[in-house]
Parts: sequence; structure tokens; C-alpha cells
Amino acid sequence: MSKRDYYDVLGVSRSATQAEIKSAYRKLAIKYHPDKNPNNSEAEEKFKEAAEAYEILSNPKKRSNFDQFGFGGGFGGSQGGMNMDDIFSQFGDIFGGAAGGSPFDSFFGGAASSGGRRTARGSNLRIRVKLTLEEIASGVEKKIKVNKNVSCKPCNGTGAKNAAAFSTCSTCNGTGTVRRVTNTILGQMQTSSTCPTCNGTGNSITDKCETCHGEGVHKGEETISINIPPGVTEGIQLSMSGKGNAAPHDGIPGDLIIVIDEVPHEILKREGINIVYDLYISFVDAALGTSIEVPTISGKAKIKIEPGTQAGKILRLKGKGIPEVNSYHRGDQLVYVNIWTPKNLSKEEKAQLEGLRESNNFKPQPRKGEKSFFERMKEYFD
Ligand code: ZN
Repeated sequence: MSKRDYYDVLGVSRSATQAEIKSAYRKLAIKYHPDKNPNNSEAEEKFKEAAEAYEILSNPKKRSNFDQFGFGGGFGGSQGGMNMDDIFSQFGDIFGGAAGGSPFDSFFGGAASSGGRRTARGSNLRIRVKLTLEEIASGVEKKIKVNKNVSCKPCNGTGAKNAAAFSTCSTCNGTGTVRRVTNTILGQMQTSSTCPTCNGTGNSITDKCETCHGEGVHKGEETISINIPPGVTEGIQLSMSGKGNAAPHDGIPGDLIIVIDEVPHEILKREGINIVYDLYISFVDAALGTSIEVPTISGKAKIKIEPGTQAGKILRLKGKGIPEVNSYHRGDQLVYVNIWTPKNLSKEEKAQLEGLRESNNFKPQPRKGEKSFFERMKEYFD
């Protein structure tokens, strides 16, 4: 990947002053800061790219070298770009390390983008839900009792005995975050983390709720009604926002992740959106033709066996399969016809069949007008 020109990266002219370069970098660093763009690798790349450009252009020697020789000048930033630790340790000053509350303080302190205190978040909860093929085909509402952390009722999740039982947290002075500055060979490195005393709320509780001992949550259970759409498959995960564990101190609850477990059907086999059924008929029925009932996921269905039906024929029951998730399309049921050959015959039956053995009509005529097994499979499963 070719590198963008450092001036382009920061959006400054080649004659930009150090103040302009610093200000341009500061804007980009805030815009693409990982706290503001969680799990956004594109933003992370931009953040690193800006840091690398700033590393060069903020240093007069490296800058003049870059101006003369471009990326070949030997000061082309760190190999493979800068990593996050380098950025925070080298440019810690720009991130509001200085006392006196620069505008970047609250932001780089890891607080919410509103500048407020960090809110605690409950953890996600995973449960498995067993579904029969019939339930999957029609979709189903499941009421499930879930053991989880629930918000404490007596204190409304605050953890305090009453509204007056709060004081400003003395560890973080109400900011909800604590900073630690360490000296490294690369300079001062600053880390911010959620205040361990107040869990980021900025308050300390002077009189704790007796039910939850100040946590705001306690173990409990909730019956949750889960709407499962038709067509889900084994292992698929559905997510219900806010139905996971309640967060301490009235924070944001986690999500409930529902993992689908498909209970195999006794006689019907699922193949994607289609259902496959193995049908056995006698060779008498195959020769004479008949009408026969087969099970489907929505009750019994009558199918016609034409006279002279060969073993291995596949009959299609249109729309008797599984719906596709979030679609009106529905699969079919494929009925695979097997001919049952009797194993135990009475003397009379044997005599009857012996009489037919030499009949030309009973001699196999494979392939005549019949598709091969492979062709049939291709036709139905492609
Ligand atoms: Zn409580």
C-alpha cells in the first residue's frame, strides 16, 4: 500500500507552521480516536496514519528531510506504521496530559463523548434455545426463564439507600476516571482508566442499599419472551439488545445472545431450506400405482404414485419446506421413493412371483427413458 503524503494526511500546506501542524493533528487525533470509534479498524488506521505524519512533520529535522527526499529520506516514520502505545506515549502532551483541564482532558480521559462520566455496562448473556423442526418452520415465541443479574428494585439500581446517600468520589474527584503517568524511555506515558472506587460513576455511596449491598444489581431471574423468526439454522445467534445482565449502578444492561439448537426430527431431514423424506413403497404399489400419505412439517400430505414408478424417483411437494429467514421464499419437501423388497415370503407368494419371473415386463430395462441417479440429484439439489 502506498503511503499518502504527510501534508495531505494532516490537510496542511507545505509551508504550514508548527502550530498549524499541531492543531491539524489534534483535530484528526480526536476525530479518529479509538475511544470514539470502538472496533473501527478504518478509524484506527487513520489515527495511526495521522500520528505518523505528525511524528515526522513536528520534528524540524525529519520534516526537512521529508521535504527533500520524501519517503526515501530514511525518516519515513516507524516501519509498518506506529502502534497505539507509541502514539500515546510520544504524543501524550497533545492528549491533554497537562494539568488545568485542556479541552481534550475529558475526551482522552476515556469519558463518554458527551463529556460526562463513563457509564457501567452489564455483560452479555448467552443462552441456548432448543427448537424442533416444526418450530423452525413456523417461527415461534419462546418464553424462557433466564438467570441473570437484575437491577435492584429498592434502590432503582443506584446501590444507595436513598437519594441523600451519595457524595463525590474522593478517588477521582467525581470525574469517574483516574490517570496514571509513567516515565518510559520514550517519554511520559499516560493511561486513563475507570475509577476503581466508584466504577466510573463519580459518586461514592455513603449509605448502601441493604438488598444489593451497594452494587445496584443482584442475582435474579427474568422470564424473557423471545420471538424467533421462521427459518433459523443450528448455531445461528440472535441478539436481544438490553436483555443481558443488568449493569451495576444503573448503567446500560448487556445483550442477550440466543444460540439456536436444532433438535433433529425423527423422520424428516432438513437440507437447507428443503426437507427430505425417505419413502418406502411395495413393488406392487410401484407397479400398479397408488395414492399414499406422507408426513410433512405441517401435517400429512397425500401424494400420487404413478404406475411404473422406479426406485429412486424424487417427488417434490412444493412449499412444504422451511422458509428462508427474512424472505417469502420457502423450500420444498423432496420425497425420495424407495421400493421395499419383501424378505419373508409365504409358499403361495413365492409361487405367484415365480409365475412372473419369466415375464418380459418384469425384466429390468435400466436407463430407458429414466434419468440416472446422479442426474436426478443434480436436478433437485442444484
Ligand atoms: Zn439496591
